[in-house]
Amino acid sequence: MQFSTLAARETADPKTTRPHTLPLYATSSYAFDSIDQGIDIFTGKEKGHVYSRYGNPTIEAVAEKIAQMEAHGTGLSAVGLMTSSGMSAISTLLFGLLKSGDRVLTQGNLYGGTTELFNAVFSPLGVEPVVVDFRNLEMVEDSLKKDPRIRLIYCESPTNPTLSCVDLAGVAAIAKRHGVETAVDNTFLSPYLQQPLALGIDWVIHSTTKYLCGHGNSIAGCIVGTDDGAMRQKVWKVMKLVGTNASPFEAWLVHMGMKTLPLRMEKHCANAQAIAEFLEKHPAVGRVNYPGLPSHPDHFLMKKQARGHGGMLSFELSGGLDAGIRAMNRVKLCTLAPTLGDVDTLILHPASSSHLNVARDVRLASGITDGLVRLSVGIEDSADLIGDLGQAIG
Ligand SMILES: *Cc1c(COP(=O)(O)O)cnc(C)c1O
Repeated sequence: MQFSTLAARETADPKTTRPHTLPLYATSSYAFDSIDQGIDIFTGKEKGHVYSRYGNPTIEAVAEKIAQMEAHGTGLSAVGLMTSSGMSAISTLLFGLLKSGDRVLTQGNLYGGTTELFNAVFSPLGVEPVVVDFRNLEMVEDSLKKDPRIRLIYCESPTNPTLSCVDLAGVAAIAKRHGVETAVDNTFLSPYLQQPLALGIDWVIHSTTKYLCGHGNSIAGCIVGTDDGAMRQKVWKVMKLVGTNASPFEAWLVHMGMKTLPLRMEKHCANAQAIAEFLEKHPAVGRVNYPGLPSHPDHFLMKKQARGHGGMLSFELSGGLDAGIRAMNRVKLCTLAPTLGDVDTLILHPASSSHLNVARDVRLASGITDGLVRLSVGIEDSADLIGDLGQAIG
């Protein structure tokens, strides 16, 4: 064997004893022992992998774990599919379930990217969103009665930035009466706090970038459903053909993060509750949006459908725009970053950052006032966080 052959050759599997943690399969393809084995795997007669856009052992192990979490304790069995981002989880699911002429019933206060996806990508392809206020379930049912083109209900609970909630069991029951499928973006609470499948929802999507990973070091998404056949024939097929598959490394990072999901979520909730109570009493603060506060309009709804109130909250500084900018410049422990669900506390003043280029009246219509500040509360010591916020807004 010449040097160049030695250099180019793949080494044999170095595995000796079973690795304790999930191995990272950084491989685009899988080698067959014989042509017969190749044929059997390609035709599905033998279980195995072919090419990592179709499936990869690391990615599949993580997707399965997320599916198990969404179904845990519910008596249901669920399947999961990881994608390259939360956005690609949403688009892959929509492409898989809908065709031109179909419509999606949804809400006006979705994650900004999802609203833009509906308007900029799906509408021109003939899949239009129909916006309704999900707080009014009669209107939801009327919409389905009036428009048989609506084939999917897509919602989030709780939503950005006011943490308003949707009665998921109520929506699922209406959808079932009309033979319409339902999908919920469960990113804000994670399956530790909320399990939409148990409430009758058909599909759950996640930006695993947020709480499931928890450490702010990966971008990926996941689709979970209970219909194995639809997942394979409709959703997986789109993932494979459009190429929205996750990277094994990103999946592996999510896997590491998920081990501490229950511990993190408990602390996120406890810290958010303590901070919300502190802010609610603070003279510089107008109103605090946190479902854990009895003053929040969805306090009881959330108690009914979730195991905790999560780590996201927002509050209004009475001083408006100037007070918001001043607070951003004064925080020391909180980081100014446009994501959420990390172990450290992240702060955002939409009017001077994410929504700087959005017209003021449009911004106000979606509840983003001049002095609104959003917090993704981390797992630090709550007294340290309260101290930092107090000096920043005081
Ligand atoms: C971040 C986020 C998304 C998009 O996820 P990416 O991983 O950034 O693509 C979707 N929905 C919600 C609620 C999010 O917070």
